[in-house]
Amino acid sequence: MKVSKTAWFEAAHRLKDHRGQCHYLHGHTWQVDIEVDCPESKDDMLIDFGVLSNIVKEYDHKLLLAVDDPLSQAFRDADGLKGIAQVVEFNGPPTAENIARDILSKVVQTVHRGVEDNLVVLTKVKVHETRNSCAECAEKSIINTNLGGENGTD
Ligand SMILES: [Zn+2]
Repeated sequence: MKVSKTAWFEAAHRLKDHRGQCHYLHGHTWQVDIEVDCPESKDDMLIDFGVLSNIVKEYDHKLLLAVDDPLSQAFRDADGLKGIAQVVEFNGPPTAENIARDILSKVVQTVHRGVEDNLVVLTKVKVHETRNSCAECAEKSIINTNLGGENGTD
């Protein structure tokens, strides 16, 4: 069984070390395509579409910044700024690639909680930063709810 979900979120980001326009704070309507493929699954519901929507909503109307971005530091330190924007911090730059990885890890954790043991699941996440630019990543893992999953990156 293979299921997929497309969802959108609005968010600003900047790439502080980038030498180009993306250095400056700007926003996008991000499109996220999620695919969960578990061919041997006999579950009536491989994953709840609403759960996938909720993962994407975690980024909606947020400011996506690297944890070491001075702007992120400013939002952490100044109480007055907290009412202006909610920040989602990334260990690296908040590129489409890293947003895709972040969403992928959340989807994989969710799938592992929901389905039966010992099945192979291939999860893919594609993040579109613009209409013609996107990043895609995938992870093949084996469901093992007792161990929290044995994961291998594809
Ligand atoms: Zn951008």
